[in-house]
Amino acid sequence: MLTVEEALEAIVSRVEPLGTERVEILSALGRVLAEPIVSRREIPPWPNSSMDGYAVRAADTGRGVALTVVGRVEAGSVPARRVGAGEAMRIFTGAPLPDGADAVVPQEDVDAVNGRIDLRGSVDPAAYVRTAGEDVRVGDRVLEPGTVLSAAEIGLLATLGYGQARVYRRPRVAILSTGNELADLGAEPGPGQIPNTNTYSLTAQVLEAGGEPVILGVAPDRLEAIAERVARARDADMLVSSAGVSVGDLDLVRKALTEAGAELHLWQVSMRPGKPITFGSLAGHPVFGLPGNPVSAMVTFELFVRPALLKMAGRRRLTRPRIRARALMTIPNPGNRRGYLRVRLERDGDGVGARLTGEQGSAILRSMVIADGLAVIPPDTTVEQGSNVEVILLRELP
Ligand code: AMP
Ligand code: MG
Repeated sequence: MLTVEEALEAIVSRVEPLGTERVEILSALGRVLAEPIVSRREIPPWPNSSMDGYAVRAADTGRGVALTVVGRVEAGSVPARRVGAGEAMRIFTGAPLPDGADAVVPQEDVDAVNGRIDLRGSVDPAAYVRTAGEDVRVGDRVLEPGTVLSAAEIGLLATLGYGQARVYRRPRVAILSTGNELADLGAEPGPGQIPNTNTYSLTAQVLEAGGEPVILGVAPDRLEAIAERVARARDADMLVSSAGVSVGDLDLVRKALTEAGAELHLWQVSMRPGKPITFGSLAGHPVFGLPGNPVSAMVTFELFVRPALLKMAGRRRLTRPRIRARALMTIPNPGNRRGYLRVRLERDGDGVGARLTGEQGSAILRSMVIADGLAVIPPDTTVEQGSNVEVILLRELP
């Protein structure tokens, strides 16, 4: 049996980042930048006021001093003249500082009386002035390749005049469910049938990880039916199927993939839930055969498929954050496989506490609905209440 780390390493070492494309910056949100961004602009382009007030010469200011107001400059206009000795100019936030002036006195710090302001004290040079280039200078390298673009980076690109950016492609992920027993959404399950869950949970996981799902629907447990779906996955960057990968008579996914030319490994991975997972490559693209039970499918997606997908999308950090939490109850993991047990997290003093979501059966999807994380418990171990436990965070901390 492989450890989770060995299986993950074997997977991640066999996938590479996809190619890149130029897209509109709003389509680049959440994607990985594939080029350095060098500023071609000075931000701000000229010195400007950070307050509504009066542009002055700092050297002129002092308690009891009166200055003559010689004009007015608003954001979006330019000063009509310079500010000379004994003068001030009315100015508003974001307006260019007039030549001659080197500071701004906020309007609440003066008494304005017909064409004149009376000062109550002095101001320092550069007070309430945003200097040219204080944010970005021409030629600054402001974003590095590999940056995951969030709202702030999108705003910076717009500020610098870049309407598009080069990013890694989103992986196209074909999703296949297999099983004679599956009734898809829209059809009431007949006798002996169960609803198709995995197509939807796995598609949602692909979307959450930044992939582009290609839904291949449900294939019954017949070789030609599966082969026909697998053929449709050829344009995708990755294929993720669920169920039909163990050793039963109707477990035909591996056979269909092999006949299509895939090179496959079936791994017994020492984990609970999960255990058998198939990984390989078909026409140069990774293929995964995940277990059929809905929780096992989701957890193995988390641990193995998501990191591969993130790597293809150009990400460098491939795994979720892990924290130490305090067990708020006894957490048993009998058996010789490492447990990835669903836990709900709560604030616990200065730290975080974890309790099991309830029954941990691999078909109990409600346990994933409630889970904030996966507690990683060594084989044959019972974590006593009050001890520390390692948790992979699936959601934001409560
Ligand atoms: P299998 O690996 O084909 O034996 O499937 C394992 C278990 O997962 C069985 O109980 C299946 O009915 C169930 N299962 C397989 N595929 C799905 C699916 N798409 N949605 C919900 N349950 C499934
Ligand atoms: Mg089956």
